[in-house]
Amino acid sequence: MDRVPVRDVRRLPKAHLHLHFTGSMRTATLLELADKYGMHLPEALASGEPPKLRATDERGWFRFQRLYDSARAVLRSEEDIARLVREAAEDERADGSGWLEIQVDPTSYAPLLGGLIPTVETVLGAVEDASRATGVGIRVLIAANRMKHPLDARTLARLAVRYADRGVVGFGLSNDERRGLARDFDRAFRIAREGGLLAAPHGGELAGPESVRDCLDDLGAGRVGHGVRAAEDPALLRRLAEEQITCEVCPASNVALGVYERPEDVPLRRLFEAGVPLALGADDPLLFGSRLAAQYQLARDAHGFTDEELAELARQSVRGSLAPPDVRNRLLDGIDAWLQAVPAPAGAVPQPVAAGRG
Ligand SMILES: [Zn+2]
Repeated sequence: MDRVPVRDVRRLPKAHLHLHFTGSMRTATLLELADKYGMHLPEALASGEPPKLRATDERGWFRFQRLYDSARAVLRSEEDIARLVREAAEDERADGSGWLEIQVDPTSYAPLLGGLIPTVETVLGAVEDASRATGVGIRVLIAANRMKHPLDARTLARLAVRYADRGVVGFGLSNDERRGLARDFDRAFRIAREGGLLAAPHGGELAGPESVRDCLDDLGAGRVGHGVRAAEDPALLRRLAEEQITCEVCPASNVALGVYERPEDVPLRRLFEAGVPLALGADDPLLFGSRLAAQYQLARDAHGFTDEELAELARQSVRGSLAPPDVRNRLLDGIDAWLQAVPAPAGAVPQPVAAGRG
């Protein structure tokens, strides 16, 4: 068999727009912190292997959330938060990411970190330090929880707006989109948008195209977390393409949670060919077992994306980001350079990404 030369996807510059805070933790760090605090982790996390999950029914989703909560409980101090963010930034850099937008619901960390405001300030401080140390630009989306009261979401939206010029760039809504209505959170999203933040709620993952439409119509979404189920509705695909709404598609997450059976079932090509801007994301590497570059590798392996197409996916991630012009231009130039470089023969050992990039 001929060996087709391939370019290393880890060297492809890109932006990462869908990563959750605790979900970004390294497995080794989870185990170390649990040990440090003498905490007992559920077997599914203690093994160090990605757990078997299936969230297509409520019980499965509940189990996923319980595991997430258990993992979050090891983050108990400013030092832990700083470590998490620094390691996430290092892993981003190793995967070719030059820009990260990480989402956090500060409510869940607040009891141990002295309240909502100290939590946000701790996260933003950690982000600034990690960014300086690694050269990866990092900004924060504050995300409300759909399972909680819409008034809580409004409180978080106001908090997010307060830090709009200090590292918070967007407002999200996560958790089970089959619960309640997007509309219940419209006031919170209005506060966020009027405060200059990007609205980026989850939709079209566990529920179908109507959930994506609700995000657009009721929440003024400028970007959609997942949005992958839009593929079931040609009119919606056209709308997303026309309005250039980026969908933060997380293929490995979709397969891990059973949204799609196999990697090749994720309708990546359908979305791409419809002209919907995409930003591949890892969602929760801790629970799904793969990071950012692996999503691009999956596009190549399971969907036959060529290097030109992978470069276009990377450009879309950059264009869909809130990175300032100098960072965008640097990343876009880097993508062109990646394409122009002569690919290494398949099977060659890829060189590690140079430290200090950016
Ligand atoms: Zn997510």
